[in-house]
Amino acid sequence: MIDVKLKKSFGSFNVNAEFSSDSMGITVLAGPSGSGKTTIINMISGLLTPDEGRIFIKDRILFDSEKKINCSVEQRRCGYIFQDGRLFPHMNVRRNLLYGRHSDHSMLKESVKLLGIEHLLERMPGKLSGGEKQRVAIGRALLMRPQILLMDEPLASLDSERKEELLSYIDRLPEQFGIPIFYVTHSIHEILRLSDKLIHVEKGRIESSGIPEGEHNSLGISEGNGEYISVFDCRMKSFDNEFGVISAEFHGGIIRILANTPPYEQEVRVAIKASDVTISLDKPQNISTTNIFKGRIRNLEEISGHSVLVHCDIGASLTAQISKASAVRLRLKPRGKIYLLVKVVSMIC
Ligand code: ADP
Ligand code: MG
Repeated sequence: MIDVKLKKSFGSFNVNAEFSSDSMGITVLAGPSGSGKTTIINMISGLLTPDEGRIFIKDRILFDSEKKINCSVEQRRCGYIFQDGRLFPHMNVRRNLLYGRHSDHSMLKESVKLLGIEHLLERMPGKLSGGEKQRVAIGRALLMRPQILLMDEPLASLDSERKEELLSYIDRLPEQFGIPIFYVTHSIHEILRLSDKLIHVEKGRIESSGIPEGEHNSLGISEGNGEYISVFDCRMKSFDNEFGVISAEFHGGIIRILANTPPYEQEVRVAIKASDVTISLDKPQNISTTNIFKGRIRNLEEISGHSVLVHCDIGASLTAQISKASAVRLRLKPRGKIYLLVKVVSMIC
């Protein structure tokens, strides 16, 4: 579907990224602010030319520095949705939607219906909310019949209620329109909600790609503020209605998560912030924390602020962030046996 190798240098900042995704759904490129996400998506769209590399989408060569191929933005047929909608202010919604030279008018009715913007067609962009603007921008991109939709933090300027609303539209797009999405974000919530395939970028380089199957099925992601997060794909076993607790199975056993309602699907994706994980050398008794995992330390990684990331194996990978003082006091070492504690209220689902 998408297969790229990109090099770009801005002097002190270098992008050197290689990744591919077969997903017909949503491929998420995640990484902290300044890690090179916008630079990468701009190179794919054709807004920025790589110094070196190649870009294939659906087996079409869009760029190849060796073969001297560099398709124009129009030839690439990528629909691009920016952070801020970018509609033409002097045109109403209908004219904005049909603006593209190659736009497919026959799709108008169906698209506006699916995006819930039928009632806005005669409205001017100045009279639209942030979420409505983004839905129009998505509609306009779809009418150009793109090969792929590129989205760069499309929810960044919306309040949390509008975010949720737009997320549910975006989530359905690949299936409804048969178009894959390449989605850039640094929000853990958006990663959890949307990603069929996850690519993780740090300092212009790809750190990891996908949530690996098998023993080490979790993936560390540093969010915008540098927070380290472990992600698990679990399978729901039961939901306790009285106390609102989901019990889900993963490679490390059973995990309990607080939730108002049972999840929509059997597959549940859960994230745990490293700073929410406590380490104990003994199995704690009479303690309120419900998630207690037995495991072994894989390695310790010192990070800034006198703290340490303790990467552990509990059947899956789980990372704890503790103070260096505690790591020394407990004499933590690779291969050491430990218990990892996570409160049900700290689970992000
Ligand atoms: P992200 O989207 O992940 O926040 P960007 O791709 O926007 O990151 O930027 C990554 C780095 O590249 C930043 O340090 C930024 O200052 C630098 N950068 C981006 N575009 C340019 C440019 N045109 N000239 C020089 N430096 C740039
Ligand atoms: Mg950016």
